[in-house]
Amino acid sequence: MSLLVYTHARRDQPKVALTFDDGPNPPRTDQVIEILASRKARATFFVLGKWAERWPQALERIVRAGHVIGNHSYLHDPDLGDFDRAEAAIAHVTGRPCRFLRAHLFHYHLCLESPFARSPLVKIVDSDVNPADWSQTDPAEIIRRTLDAQDLAGGSIIDLHDSAETENDALRLARPLPMIEALPPLIDALQARGFALVGLDEMELVEPVTWSAAWQAERKATGYKGK
Ligand SMILES: [Zn+2]
Repeated sequence: MSLLVYTHARRDQPKVALTFDDGPNPPRTDQVIEILASRKARATFFVLGKWAERWPQALERIVRAGHVIGNHSYLHDPDLGDFDRAEAAIAHVTGRPCRFLRAHLFHYHLCLESPFARSPLVKIVDSDVNPADWSQTDPAEIIRRTLDAQDLAGGSIIDLHDSAETENDALRLARPLPMIEALPPLIDALQARGFALVGLDEMELVEPVTWSAAWQAERKATGYKGK
């Protein structure tokens, strides 16, 4: 059985999906939830199993705010496809199975060894707009990289980070700050272009890539595709 990876949804509908990886990460995740609520936007959070166990209430707050939860592995270890362990930890808190998975570090080959990742009920989701927000200190640059991304269009999936995998609390709390500062004007700009900001469960994902080692290597090399 081949592995299918989705990078976008139907292009003929004016919807885009904001996705936030590596959380939950209180209080940063809560700040993101507040900004989304202030602009009536829904989003998808690809969370780590280890953080779901450490901050179950933060994960509950994402669910209560009406956002979609996806599986982003348990440890975020480059060599581990521990999506099943993550799924157990996440579902223990949310009470429902994840329907979306994003492999960490573009390491989609790790999905091959996970029964959860291979389930026909689960969609493996990458993105087509990658501002690499985690590497940026200037909020304006995150906004520019997102809005100027060559693939930004209806159906786009935008990859942002409200957390990090590090056990270093100070670093994990500091890293999302530029993104959080960028988020209100970024959402305003997307909505001004006529895009509705929706959860992945409101999109029809299409044209998946059939995984291959060559595609993955290319994907990793061009992870940031902005201008
Ligand atoms: Zn990640």
